[in-house]
Parts: sequence; C-alpha cells; structure tokens
Amino acid sequence: MARRRKIYEGKAKTMYEGPEPGTLVQYFRDDATAFNAQKHAIIDGKGVLNNAISEYLMLRLGEIGIPTAFVKRLNMREQLVRRVEIIPVEVVVRNLAAGSLATRFKLEEGTPLPRSIIEYFYKSDELGDPMICEEHITAFGWASTQELDDMMALSLRVNDFLTGLFLGVGLRLVDFKLEFGRLFNEDEFTVVLADEITPDNCRLWDVKTGDKMDKDRFRRDLGNVKEAYQEVARRLGVLPETAVAP
Ligand code: UDP
Repeated sequence: MARRRKIYEGKAKTMYEGPEPGTLVQYFRDDATAFNAQKHAIIDGKGVLNNAISEYLMLRLGEIGIPTAFVKRLNMREQLVRRVEIIPVEVVVRNLAAGSLATRFKLEEGTPLPRSIIEYFYKSDELGDPMICEEHITAFGWASTQELDDMMALSLRVNDFLTGLFLGVGLRLVDFKLEFGRLFNEDEFTVVLADEITPDNCRLWDVKTGDKMDKDRFRRDLGNVKEAYQEVARRLGVLPETAVAP
C-alpha cells in the first residue's frame, strides 16, 4: 500500500497528508506519555477509544456552533481534519482545583474554584510548556488580541457545554486543555478548535465515587487506565465493539 506522507508525529497522534488539499489525517496511537514524555507506555486500544470519544465531542460542539477542524472519522484510528496552522498556546480551563494548580497554590484537589479559571501555556516541549499570560501571547506574536479573545470566548463556551454533557453521564469535568488553529476562510483567518478532546487532556471524575476516569490513572499509576477510558466511551454511547476485547 502506498504510504502517505507523514506531516508530524506528536506524543499520541500522527498527522498524515490528507486525501485533498487543506486536509490531514489524524491517526490516534496507543502511546501514553506524561511529565513531558519522561514516562511512556502503550495502553492497548487507547487510540481507538480516543478517536471515538473525540469524534463524538467535536460533533456535539459543532452542533452548538463551535468551529472545529474535525471533518469526519475515517476508521477505528483515523479522522479527517482540516489542515490548520496550530496556535502554539495550550488553553487550560479549570473548574475544580487539581494537578498543577492544586500543587502551585497548595489547594486540596477537588476544591471548587470560585469561577472557571483559564490558563495559558506556551506549546514547547523544549521549554516544558511554560505557563504564560496574555501579554506574552500578543507581545511574542503567538496570537493576535482578536484571536486570543476568540480562543477565550470559545473555551468558556466549550467548558459550559462539556460540563453539562459530562454531568449528564455522571462525570465531573474538573479541567481540560484545548488547542486552536487558524483556518484560512473566505479571505480571512478564523480561529477553530483543533487537536482532540479525550481523557488524555481532560480530568473526569465519577460523580458518585470520585474515581478518576482519565490520564491521571496513568500519570499516578492507579491502574485500569484502559478500563476508565472504555467507561467514558461507554457512557457517551460510543464504545467501539472491538475495544471491548480483553
Ligand atoms: N494537560 C494536557 N496537556 C499538557 C498539560 C495539561 O492535556 O501538556 C491537561 C491535563 O490533562 C489536565 C489539564 O490540562 O486535564 C490541566 O493540567 P495541569 O496543568 O494540572 O497539569 P498536570 O497536573 O497534568 O501536569
């Protein structure tokens, strides 16, 4: 079979040239990494689960008018996406204290925040994704003030919508990370949601038991990583049959 041209290999996904100009194929691998890739493992079937979960969430967000790079799922591990220029800023939205925020301010994990907090990190493996503020983003030209404004407004809408969606299936959306891209559209650039939304980049806690149903199971060696991702997919009604095998 003719191999497609690889465009980029990330920590858990590989991007290939798409079938038409302006498209890419996003391939979900089973790799799990943490702590800037110092910790690595293969979680059998994770890619299949994340592909299905991200497809579902991007479609639902598209339905409420959030512009996304997602086009369609192609098969168990691949989705077709629009080719965008990724803005090198990771947007983290938090509802409860957890992870690095809990550590930074000595807060007990699970402490509700007075309101949702948005943080920005510069997307750079070399620098270890340092936390940045709006001044850095505009001064260094990573995004314009208009783009930053769009990213913030979209992130808050995504947070409100996904908080309700997950609550409906018994999961608390603690925090998550989004990435945005620029899409050239009718002679102007627009900001669209890119990358993925999966338990790799969200914290999801079971409402009843408090169990962690996300990548913290891998980061913190809690076990049953695949089972947690499967349960998230099952609750969303997108568990692929082949992902149920032992
Ligand atoms: N996150 C991510 N990629 C990163 C850093 C964070 O997807 O490179 C997600 C993470 O899964 C969590 C949220 O962003 O849902 C907040 O992460 P935090 O800053 O607490 O960092 P962590 O404790 O994961 O190092």
